[in-house]
Amino acid sequence: MITLTGKSVFGGVEIGKIAFYKRNSQQIKRWHVDDTEAEVNRFELAKATAVGQLQGLHEKALKDVGEENAMIFEIHQMMLEDLDYLESILHIITNQEVNAEYAVATTADNFAAMFSAMDDAYMQGRAADVKDVSERILNILTGAGNAGFSTDEPAIIAADDLVPSETVQLDKEKVLGFATMYGSSNSHTAILARTMNIPAIIGLGEALKEEYDGAFAIIDGFDGKVYIDPDEETLEAMKKKQADDRAKKALLQELKGKENVTKSGQKINIYANIGNTSDVGSVLQNDAGGIGLFRSEFLYLENDTFPTEEQQFQVYKTVAENMAGKKVIIRTLDIGADKQADYFNLPHEENPALGYRAIRICLTQTDIFKTQLRALLRASAYGQIAIMFPMIISVGEVKRIKEIMEEVKAELRADGISYNENIETGIMIETPAAVMVSHELAKEVDFFSVGTNDLTQYTLAIDRQNPKLDDFYDPHHPAVLAMIKMAADNAHAEGKWIGICGELGADLELTETFLKMGIDELSVSPSMILPVRKKVREAE
Ligand code: PEP
Ligand code: MG
Repeated sequence: MITLTGKSVFGGVEIGKIAFYKRNSQQIKRWHVDDTEAEVNRFELAKATAVGQLQGLHEKALKDVGEENAMIFEIHQMMLEDLDYLESILHIITNQEVNAEYAVATTADNFAAMFSAMDDAYMQGRAADVKDVSERILNILTGAGNAGFSTDEPAIIAADDLVPSETVQLDKEKVLGFATMYGSSNSHTAILARTMNIPAIIGLGEALKEEYDGAFAIIDGFDGKVYIDPDEETLEAMKKKQADDRAKKALLQELKGKENVTKSGQKINIYANIGNTSDVGSVLQNDAGGIGLFRSEFLYLENDTFPTEEQQFQVYKTVAENMAGKKVIIRTLDIGADKQADYFNLPHEENPALGYRAIRICLTQTDIFKTQLRALLRASAYGQIAIMFPMIISVGEVKRIKEIMEEVKAELRADGISYNENIETGIMIETPAAVMVSHELAKEVDFFSVGTNDLTQYTLAIDRQNPKLDDFYDPHHPAVLAMIKMAADNAHAEGKWIGICGELGADLELTETFLKMGIDELSVSPSMILPVRKKVREAE
């Protein structure tokens, strides 16, 4: 038996095989070929295989996600027939007498650069597509296979680290837990593990070796341990721990349908954080009062190109309808920093957390913002949707947002499309600047929601993504708590409500502190709703 120790991100015990996440980071080499005709044939064969794969994917997607979402695979097939693209590849092979891999990779880089430089956002988005189809051919030529993991049964996913766009594309049914070599406990992948209610351990280091792929193992998220080839004694002890945990969770079920009220009668709303429509099931199962944070950017991360207004509308409408009249607070696009989608073509930045992200993108690329607002407003006719805006630092930003909202509403009225005219709008309090002007901001909005993950990062000047700083990242720091209190007092002075949707909202050590501050809502991962309810009901 081998025991690996890392840092726990979420508790739970799971037993199964390890599946190592495979990433294609192939180095394409250039070499001379004598027989260019044979090399062209090699390329043609790979292209035909790629077309076959895309046809299969198109058919599967038609069944699983509908025509509109399946279209991307048709577009990719068309790209493979594009004369300019093909000519460039054949030209490089024959004129430079080089291998097909090099010709494909070079053409992909050139075409992607060309698309990125175009003014039109749609054409810019094609850069990611051309890279994607080319990658497919390269995988066939080099025999590298696809990224991801392959397993028939649910497995413990091991990786060096996972970025949000990789995590959201995993087949969740197949994931028992996460075990990574690196990563930070405040990252979005960690947040996702909490939402999925599965054990997750980070920082296992080099001890987590690729050779463990397929090995029988146990992940103990409570103690931050992974046991490879466990002995009988450990296996028995872990099975017992798993059963005890499940029994404890079952006991919490008794709290379903009960109020979130303290012994002295103070009430608080307990809502859920989600990243996807598929999370709504666990929101309802755990009896949340509503959704306090729907991270809409995950919708963008799952896509290869900008989700259309219709696609977004369907998602927001589905969530609102499934929540059957309960409040659903949807946060507008918070892309940037660790949440990157290729097709946004965001430039490399020295300090991405302080960079071009979230509302800053929306206020400068208003076409993207307006598409999302139209979809949100349209969906507001089907349930109790509220909208909130991330990374706010000034009253000026909120005023500009309101102007854009009014423009979108006017367009909808002109088109005769219904929406909720009195839709609630709020902002996230996740920068010290927002806290310091919260008395002004409170006049402009219906509510505040404190994003403690970023508020801690910016207040303490500590990168939430940097695992080396995990021990310094202290969301209990008095400065962070004072910021929350100040925002709460200023919201209440204007008769507005305030919630907490960062991870700190689920911190049971602080539930009483938040109640004393008069926080009106805590929005937590679905698995934490009943534990927080228990804590509230035990409080004086
Ligand atoms: C936060 O910053 O606390 C928050 C809720 O947003 P995210 O974690 O997605 O940045
Ligand atoms: Mg944030």
